Amino acid sequence: MRAAVFLERDGILNLAPVQGRNQSVPRALSDFQINRAVLAPLNLLREAGLLLIAVTNQPGVSRGYLSRRELDLMHLQLMKQLKLDDLFMCTHDEMDCCNCRKPDIGLFREAAFKHKLDLDRCFVISDKAADAQAAHSLGCISLLVQSPLNGDGHHDCILPDLDSIAQRILRIHAQAKSGYMAHAVAA
Ligand SMILES: [Zn+2]
Repeated sequence: MRAAVFLERDGILNLAPVQGRNQSVPRALSDFQINRAVLAPLNLLREAGLLLIAVTNQPGVSRGYLSRRELDLMHLQLMKQLKLDDLFMCTHDEMDCCNCRKPDIGLFREAAFKHKLDLDRCFVISDKAADAQAAHSLGCISLLVQSPLNGDGHHDCILPDLDSIAQRILRIHAQAKSGYMAHAVAA
């Protein structure tokens, strides 16, 4: 069983400016800009043996203002430039009543099944309350980048930037690993 870091897309992996409580999300490849600040933290997490998996809600497809083709082009860029292991998305709107739109956990369950993940040792990085809520339902640790979108629901920690989040994850991951090893030695 492996451990993974689940990554929100908009505002974490690509730039998506927040005004008030609204986030402006790219609608075309030409508007899509990778967040360069995420490169170094992702490298550290990958080197520690963690899988990197993007999990994103893209309701614009169902609502009709985002073409699936543009979305696929953005995601090709994302996978290639950030060397992600996988990407899961929900293209539904609230009205579609699916079980994959976060904070529902359908996409995370699918990822866990496909990559044989131990969810107790997985992490969720986001700026949004919905992801912290999903993490809580799954038993993953949630780490939010400080933002007006954090909400006031359950989360494990809020940190100022992605570098401090990566450091926190590396510490917890190393402790969990040594814990497992001590257990294995005792057995
Ligand atoms: Zn869905």
